[in-house]
Parts: sequence; structure tokens; C-alpha cells
Amino acid sequence: MERKTNCPNCGAALPQFGGKCEFCGTRVVDLTMLDFDAQEPTMFLLNLPQSITGGQKAMISMWANPELNSITMEQNNTDVYGGWGNYKMFTIPEPQIAFEMSLHPCADPRDSSLYKLKIDKEINL
Ligand SMILES: [Zn+2]
Repeated sequence: MERKTNCPNCGAALPQFGGKCEFCGTRVVDLTMLDFDAQEPTMFLLNLPQSITGGQKAMISMWANPELNSITMEQNNTDVYGGWGNYKMFTIPEPQIAFEMSLHPCADPRDSSLYKLKIDKEINL
């Protein structure tokens, strides 16, 4: 079943699982399909940054159970002062959300590999 995601900035339909909005350019990564309560292996596909692959395009595919280790939400406010008498002029809100997620690898039910690294050919590891 295909599920559509809409751009939170302009409302246009995005490619499945997010991507770059073709109307306003906002990059959206849709992580809502992660089910931390499912307790069943899920196939993950991850593009590796070219900074660690020596410029190669590389992707890891692996079966894993996702775990949300922590999530914190906080907001710090920075007061800005100025003018005669150095009055507080305005406050800049600085919300932060940090989450830490782990992927616990499971053996691939087809060939027992833990993950596959695809550069220009598939390597089973
Ligand atoms: Zn958009």
C-alpha cells in the first residue's frame, strides 16, 4: 500500500518516504514508518556518506530491529538586549529535539548475512 507524504512547508505531495519537494525545495525525510513497538525485523537501506567511502556511492542493506534509545525536547531562549538603557528587546527561541536510535542487526532470513554493502557490486558480510 502506497502512502503519500505531503511537504510540511507547502503541502505538495512528496515522493514516498520523503525527498526534496519539487515545488519549494524543502528536504523531508519521513521516519514515521519506523515502528519501534513492532519487535519484528525490518529491512533498512542506508546510503553511506561519500566522506567515508572515498567518494563512492555506497549503500548498506540490513535486517534490524530499531530501538529508540532516547528523545529529548528542550527550548532555550536567548534574550537580546539593546537600545538606551540596554532593555530586553526580544527573545530568540531555540528549540532542540535530539533523538538517538539504534539498529540491532538480525540475520537475513534468505542467506544468514548480517548486512550487504553495495558499491558497484553486492558484497555479503
Ligand atoms: Zn514543499
